[in-house]
Amino acid sequence: MNRSDQRSGGRIAAGRSVLVSGAGIAGLTLAYWLNRCGYAVTVVERAAGLRASG
Ligand SMILES: Cc1cc2nc3c(=O)[nH]c(=O)nc-3n(C[C@H](O)[C@H](O)[C@H](O)COP(=O)(O)OP(=O)(O)OC[C@H]3O[C@@H](n4cnc5c(N)ncnc54)[C@H](O)[C@@H]3O)c2cc1C
Repeated sequence: MNRSDQRSGGRIAAGRSVLVSGAGIAGLTLAYWLNRCGYAVTVVERAAGLRASG
C-alpha cells in the first residue's frame, strides 16, 4: 500500500489514475480531492523549486 492508498483508505480501483500537471494551489487541491475519491494521482511540476512570489 503506497501513500495514495493510505489516504483513500486503500479504495483505489484498477485503472483509476490521473495525471495533474502543475503543483500550484489548484493542482494540489485537485490532486488531494481526487485521491480522496479513490484515484491514484500523480502530480508533475515544471518549476525546479518554490517561486518567490504569487
Ligand atoms: C506576484 C504575484 C503575487 C500574488 N500574491 C497573491 C497574494 O498575496 N494572495 C493571493 O491570494 N494570491 C496572490 N497571487 C495570485 C495567486 O498566486 C494565484 O491566484 C494562484 O497561484 C493561482 O493558482 P493556480 O494553481 O491556478 O496556478 P499557479 O499557482 O500558477 O500554478 C500552476 C503551476 O503549474 C505549473 N505548470 C505550468 N505549466 C506546466 C506544465 N506544462 N507542466 C508542469 N507544470 C506546469 C507552474 O509551474 C505552476 O507551478 C499572486 C500572484 C502573483 C503573480
